[in-house]
Amino acid sequence: MSKIRVRRPIVEMDGDEMTRVIWARIKDQLILPYLDIDLEYYDLSVTHRDETDDKVTVDSARATLEHGVAVKCATITPNDDRVREFGLKKQWPSPNGTIRALMDGTVFRKPITLRNIPAAVKSWKKPITIARHAFGDIYRDQEMVIDRPGTVELTFRPADGSVPVSQVVNEFKGSSPTGISMAMFNTDSSIRSFAKSCFTYAIAEQCDIWFNAKDTISKKYHARFRDIFAEEAASRASEISGAGITYSYYLIDDAVAQVMKHEGGHLWACMNYDGDVLSDMVAAGFGSLGLMTSVLVNPDGKYEYEAAHGTVTRHFRRHQRGEETSTNSVASIFAWSGAVGRRGQLDGSADVVAFAQAIENAVIETIESGTMTKDLLALTTTDHPHGVDTWAFMDAVASRLKVSL
Ligand code: NAP
Ligand code: MG
Repeated sequence: MSKIRVRRPIVEMDGDEMTRVIWARIKDQLILPYLDIDLEYYDLSVTHRDETDDKVTVDSARATLEHGVAVKCATITPNDDRVREFGLKKQWPSPNGTIRALMDGTVFRKPITLRNIPAAVKSWKKPITIARHAFGDIYRDQEMVIDRPGTVELTFRPADGSVPVSQVVNEFKGSSPTGISMAMFNTDSSIRSFAKSCFTYAIAEQCDIWFNAKDTISKKYHARFRDIFAEEAASRASEISGAGITYSYYLIDDAVAQVMKHEGGHLWACMNYDGDVLSDMVAAGFGSLGLMTSVLVNPDGKYEYEAAHGTVTRHFRRHQRGEETSTNSVASIFAWSGAVGRRGQLDGSADVVAFAQAIENAVIETIESGTMTKDLLALTTTDHPHGVDTWAFMDAVASRLKVSL
């Protein structure tokens, strides 16, 4: 059988521990036998990041900006224990944080839905993708404990030397003069990048988009988010209607009520705190971390695909001791199929897009026919499911893929 030619490169970012072992298997069994592909390889294992003083992470992000599509394995974000474990020079920052900052990207988390793994919410039939604006608000705030009577003010001091503007936040006085106060901020450029990434994603994925805030109460702060989203929606109106999708703004409390009776299939764009909370709710509602994918999209439409979970250290320790593991490889496989499919779409290669779909079909059919890793056994509605180890699951997917091609 001749291989399918992929016209432009995909940036490959290798990683750590259990996911690194699975990674090599995915390439050997599902990708390289079928695709004639130029993988621009960057080793983001913690030891190689340390050797290169983290330059490899920066290089891989730049390469993604150049080529437009990347696939990333989970990586260790070192803490004190990891510094000792690997003898690292220092606690290198999270690669995901570095890549996200360099790409000015937004993370979209999307669950993989299967017929025999029902969602916790009965109405959820299609995946709900969450986009979190991961900048500012309470994550970059200034907070104060007020321990005696006095006045808290918010002051803006213009750089041009013109008159400062001050507003009283609260006068702490009377019988209960103690309490707390907080100031936070966001920037138009960050909000706009977020909005652009969200519309780029929704148009490419052809899914409806929701944005929500509390602008009835926060008439300037939340209202600014609403207005920037409305401007982006207006500026891309023809693309939005061309994709057959809609943009809706809801109050946040209305949105959470709506979502509980909605079938899903939409992109749910959230302010930072809302996204933090709701992404965990949605992930739990759809089942296993092993079924959650993640893609970083920048405002210009550059994509980096990965699994939402980490390096699955506990399973890796068992693997190192030669014990059996049953680690779910689905999100990592879908990171590959996502990247390959996007590459095909951007290159106008229908055969590459179809191959990516064939990989996903092989995974879905394997699980829906009852063969699955052990994390899914407690979730499935299949009567006598076949719980298998890490490698038997991947072999089952590989043989289905081979037969289907
Ligand atoms: P984790 O790797 O996501 O694993 C936490 C637990 O979730 C596992 O022990 C396992 O539970 C379950 N799990 C996660 N993925 C699974 C899968 N594919 N199949 C089956 N079960 C799965 O999180 P962690 O243990 O907190 O972090 C480990 C390392 O990953 C850390 O060094 C962290 O820095 C890194 N990390 C990287 C990323 C990333 O690169 N994007 C994200 C998060 C964490 P059981 O043990 O109960 O089976
Ligand atoms: Mg959270």
